[in-house]
Amino acid sequence: MYAKNIWKDITDEKRKAIFDFGKEYIDYLSASKTERLAVSEAEKLAIKRGFVKADEAKSLKKGSKVYFINKNKNLALYIIGKKPITEGIRILGAHMDSPRLDLKQNPLYEANGFALLDTHYYGGVKKYQWVTIPLALIGVICKKDGSVINVNIGEDEGDPIVGISDLLIHLSADQMKKTGDKIIEGENLDVTVGSIPLDGEEKDAVKANVLKLLKEKYDVEEEDFLSAEIEVVPAGRARDYGLDRSMIAGYGHDDRVCGYTSLRAILDIDEPEYTSCCILVDKEEIGSVGATGADSVFFENTIAYLLNAMGDSSYISLKKTMENCRMLSSDVSAGFDPLFPEVNDKKNAAYLGNGIVFNKYTGRGGKGGSNDANPEYVAWIRHVMDEKGVFFQTAELGKVDQGGGGTIAYILGNYNMNVIDAGVAVLNMHAPMEIVSKADVYEAYLAYKAFLLG
Ligand code: MN
Ligand code: MN
Repeated sequence: MYAKNIWKDITDEKRKAIFDFGKEYIDYLSASKTERLAVSEAEKLAIKRGFVKADEAKSLKKGSKVYFINKNKNLALYIIGKKPITEGIRILGAHMDSPRLDLKQNPLYEANGFALLDTHYYGGVKKYQWVTIPLALIGVICKKDGSVINVNIGEDEGDPIVGISDLLIHLSADQMKKTGDKIIEGENLDVTVGSIPLDGEEKDAVKANVLKLLKEKYDVEEEDFLSAEIEVVPAGRARDYGLDRSMIAGYGHDDRVCGYTSLRAILDIDEPEYTSCCILVDKEEIGSVGATGADSVFFENTIAYLLNAMGDSSYISLKKTMENCRMLSSDVSAGFDPLFPEVNDKKNAAYLGNGIVFNKYTGRGGKGGSNDANPEYVAWIRHVMDEKGVFFQTAELGKVDQGGGGTIAYILGNYNMNVIDAGVAVLNMHAPMEIVSKADVYEAYLAYKAFLLG
């Protein structure tokens, strides 16, 4: 169904399915504020559905459900299909990293009676959106003895929160004249964490007190920040949004909304014709680089492993398999915002409530850097969606020359497989509170299932 509002003429049964699915997604999103948590929460769900670690699987045959984890930040799940793997895999790929602030390696300092943590923002953020909101510190501290300490401050009901201050309006005459990117400077995104001096301490006594608290709670020293990965993220759970509860407000919809729906799609199918895959990657927001980004050979390695486990270790088989894959690069789209209509071409914009969004191309300035899917492939996608009665729409990211963005689509496209971007429309993308429609979340799940089975 093309470009129609899902809520119109909806059956009671479907409405219930949408709201039930939304509840489950809210639970997942609230528990998955970092890429590590997104992966470990996903792993728990996969194990419940009978997926086993690939190297623990006894043998691989059709219907086998296995997964690989890479450095605690990537998860690749597979269901072996009825057809040989070399005929291609149906791949759902999404990213689990989201824009946020990361603590620097030497973060802690004291100034004018406060202890603060210095950060470096990760991904594209409007810096002024991150001040004067409740924030949490979530991540890991890795110690020299090899132990890994999980840190989570600000999410439990009884926890304190932290935050970043902004100048009072009364004294902001100069600040208010600055452009948006300068109102809050990157180097000023420092998190306030304390104001009580430690008894008997002369110098930096407030900082010393914070270190004492960290020592008591986590048994860590200041130097352990050197090998820590602590993310400063919005505190609190995702919530229903709107008086009609039609939407979900939360941190990290980009791109955990596509990650979760892709994950659920592969968890909820059995015995597909083609081997099914869901791959959850990291580092998309900073260019898909490195060992855990989509650019990593991890993904290719998992397929080599599967082929080998099924008795085919030929290089050509691996290449053939990659080329025969079909993929949905599952990433969010910019939803049409009635307060900012001027940035969109209305007939090529994504609307909340109109179903999964297919972006034939993304990119900026003349489709630069975009995957630009083949029309033959788009036609096949339309066929698959219509066959299952899935609501879908197509869109570009804003007006031509308005701006743009990228996804992981082109990276997998480099293997010469067919790829198209497909995801959920989001309002306030990259803000601490992003908005999606529950109808679109559920429809994305249906679309991903239809794709795996198509
Ligand atoms: Mn994204
Ligand atoms: Mn993004």
